[in-house]
Amino acid sequence: MVENCMNERQKLLSHLPSVDKILKSEQGEQWLKTYPRGYVLQAIREMIDLKRKDIMEGLTSDLSEEYMIAEIENKLDVLSSYSLKPLINATGVVIHTNLGRSILCEKALENITHISGSYSNLEYDVEEGKRGKRYSHLKRILKEVTGAEDALVVNNNAAAVLLCLNTLAEGKEVIVSRGELVEIGGSFRMPEIMASSSALLHEVGTTNKTHLLDYEKAINEDTALILKVHQSNYRITGFTKEVSVEDLVNLGRRHQVPVMFDLGSGCLIDLKPFGIHNEPIVKEIVDSGVDVVTFSGDKLLGGPQGGIIVGKKQYTEMIQKNPMTRAMRIDKLTLAGFEATLMEYIDEEKAIKNIPTLRMLLQKPEEIKNRAKKIAARLKRDIKDAWIQVLPDSSRAGGGAMPETDLPTYVVSIKPQNLSVNELEERLRKGTPPIITRIKDDSLIIDARTVRDKEIESLVKGIKVAIS
Ligand SMILES: *Cc1c(COP(=O)(O)O)cnc(C)c1O
Repeated sequence: MVENCMNERQKLLSHLPSVDKILKSEQGEQWLKTYPRGYVLQAIREMIDLKRKDIMEGLTSDLSEEYMIAEIENKLDVLSSYSLKPLINATGVVIHTNLGRSILCEKALENITHISGSYSNLEYDVEEGKRGKRYSHLKRILKEVTGAEDALVVNNNAAAVLLCLNTLAEGKEVIVSRGELVEIGGSFRMPEIMASSSALLHEVGTTNKTHLLDYEKAINEDTALILKVHQSNYRITGFTKEVSVEDLVNLGRRHQVPVMFDLGSGCLIDLKPFGIHNEPIVKEIVDSGVDVVTFSGDKLLGGPQGGIIVGKKQYTEMIQKNPMTRAMRIDKLTLAGFEATLMEYIDEEKAIKNIPTLRMLLQKPEEIKNRAKKIAARLKRDIKDAWIQVLPDSSRAGGGAMPETDLPTYVVSIKPQNLSVNELEERLRKGTPPIITRIKDDSLIIDARTVRDKEIESLVKGIKVAIS
């Protein structure tokens, strides 16, 4: 009996093709044309090892040629695919930091390809025929859309804040309200940034209330800066008091101390007509006389990752000369993306239409409802074993912007019959492309706000595959 078994295994093992045989087959030659040789060898070896193991353990294993080819192709796919890949954001969170924050507008994408596929005048002044400055390219457009005297862009807003503090207040005191010592996701904590910049934090007021007098009393001969920070991802409500930007500017003027505002999101247009009331507009903050304003490029602005510094020239020039700036400089891809994105803002209507972040935030609930209905209809047509319906819900802006604003939205709610909702969520997340959803009341939720029309096809297909 045991002997028979051994013989059987021996026989099966002898049926396994050799690496060399597969490599020299027609299929093998085809793979070698498409994939790196190392990967082809690895995929074949892994497949054979797996089969050998199955046989040795007495497991039934499909040894047909088609099956082995399919296994190798799967492995080749995995080996040769990129780690960073696109996915479908069905969470409804528009500025989702984990999912890459803002999607760039068409013009930005075109310009990035255009500039990075060629030499450019990145640091070359073609008029003068000599060395130019990379920061010069964004100055005109940023001055135009923010009304500031001067502008500078670095790697991200955390870098912008660090640089400003280091340049304006190294070894000196910076006055900040206790209510604004925030932590933004991804380890940006104001007191720690302050310490890294070698500026000394001088906290004033209390968590819920800070008065002008608190700032005034804190000013001394070591004071270098008054800093205001947008609370971004949280709000203090109830018995509260914060000092207005105007009052801080006046105080700063009287004592000849510059005032800086870390705005976080960087909203360039007035969102009040769209029911969003608590996002300060960069231009208004600049107009109120704040000396230095910093904000992110990839939050509400809807551009590439970057930290934008705008304000009085006397300060931006000092910042630009700081050797640290060199270590945080942006590359030409970012510059190209920013220039094209910012150009859209010359015409606000165009900005709202063409910049995906703004478009997704400001689209009308009716429009979202139509998309949700379209998705649901497609799903209902093909999937019978799930309970599918369109429901009103609310989504969030994300990225620290408008934390309290519930944006009315429509979602497709899916309750599978032969599968747990957690299992469905996991299958979608691990699919190709991955589909990121949320679970609510034991149903899977697809928020149509962040699903783009061109993604519906692959969204529906993904759900179909995951449920079957
Ligand atoms: C988001 C945020 C930052 C950090 O900006 P990044 O561009 O992510 O580096 C800093 N300050 C505030 C107030 C923010 O909201």
